[in-house]
Amino acid sequence: MIFPESGLPADTIRDTLDQLARDDLMWREGRIPLYVFGGDEDAFKVGRDAFFRFFSENALGARRAFASIKTMQEDVIAMALDLLHGQPGMAGVFTSGGTESIFLAVRAARAEARAQRGLGPGQGNLVLPETAHPAFSKGAQCMDLEERRIPVRSDGRADVAAMESAIDAHTVMLGGSAPCFPYGVIDPITELGALALSHKLWLHVDACVGGYLAPFVRDIGYPVPDFDLGVPGVASLSADLHKYGFCPKPASTVFFSSQARADLAGFEIDNWPSGRFSTGTLVGTRPAGSVAGSWATLQYLGKAGYRRLAQRIMALRDQYLHDITAVPGYRMTAQPDLSLLAFHNPALDMARVAALLRERGWLPGMTARPVGLHLMLSLLHETAREAYIKDLATCSAQVAREMASGADGSRETARY
Ligand SMILES: *Cc1c(COP(=O)(O)O)cnc(C)c1O
Repeated sequence: MIFPESGLPADTIRDTLDQLARDDLMWREGRIPLYVFGGDEDAFKVGRDAFFRFFSENALGARRAFASIKTMQEDVIAMALDLLHGQPGMAGVFTSGGTESIFLAVRAARAEARAQRGLGPGQGNLVLPETAHPAFSKGAQCMDLEERRIPVRSDGRADVAAMESAIDAHTVMLGGSAPCFPYGVIDPITELGALALSHKLWLHVDACVGGYLAPFVRDIGYPVPDFDLGVPGVASLSADLHKYGFCPKPASTVFFSSQARADLAGFEIDNWPSGRFSTGTLVGTRPAGSVAGSWATLQYLGKAGYRRLAQRIMALRDQYLHDITAVPGYRMTAQPDLSLLAFHNPALDMARVAALLRERGWLPGMTARPVGLHLMLSLLHETAREAYIKDLATCSAQVAREMASGADGSRETARY
């Protein structure tokens, strides 16, 4: 494409956008197992309206120009601290996503370890369960930290004793997930908190995917292990509004056990001709719309609204769980705590099953170890369930026949 010499009419542009969208997978019909989240239709509209109401403002200027955005950011952080058992003196930052939230936590933990233990450049490691999100790796790579990814237990949860063995004098952070993305299980956060306290280490809880769902899943009666800011030893916790908070992207939150720790994550720069430059986040300019959209969504749904959504999501999860394990040979890779499902049939070439599902118009979510399938469920997947299970059974039967006859076909690999 060339840069058009004279601009095109708005109508033409709108038509082209519609045409382009036709090449996207059918996410509204539940054909994609991640990236998009379906919740309450009215709450979606309230969040979208608020987003566009503050479309042009800039959250970088929240402190100096947009009192509205400053207030709404503070309100969102306060509401989340209330939800996640925040204690007096704890602090939070509104960020542009889980990756930025985790990045800031790693940065603060490194700064604290440097200040307290004199660690220098090139020193420092993160001790994580192998299931920790790649966002930790991005932080480690950018900040020159070693990663120690420790194999998880057979139930998919962090092996606390093995993690303890990996700690040394240069460890700057322990990590745990609530839940982890690959297997959908919540790590033993209470034990990790105790481990962190006994070694005087920073524990980050990655509740990016579960932070705004797990509390409500517990409220409606499902067993959910303790994972939040009320657990002793938790130094920081990330929770994404733009996942099961059902808020407009990009929106996440990260919390710290003290304002001093939150300050270690932020930036105070004063070495250019324009004077002092300070941000609590890594990014500079960022959408005010997602602050307003998040504020409006939380206010509109309230705890009761999120509980109703949790009820529907978990009922759907239970149906998928039942239907998947009713397909011959299938088992859950781990027993999920929330609505992220990993499953496989150990007798089948699952990469081939995934390829056949793709031929039928599904984007196959996958795990690599073991090779298997993965679903992160939201209400978008309600109408897709019967067709998905039917295709899973059909494709699996076909792969069984192919394997018996020695035939070979294309395969999918797990990649995100
Ligand atoms: C999504 C996710 C992240 C990263 O969040 P982004 O918003 O995609 O940057 C981190 N951890 C877990 C467990 C996640 O599911």
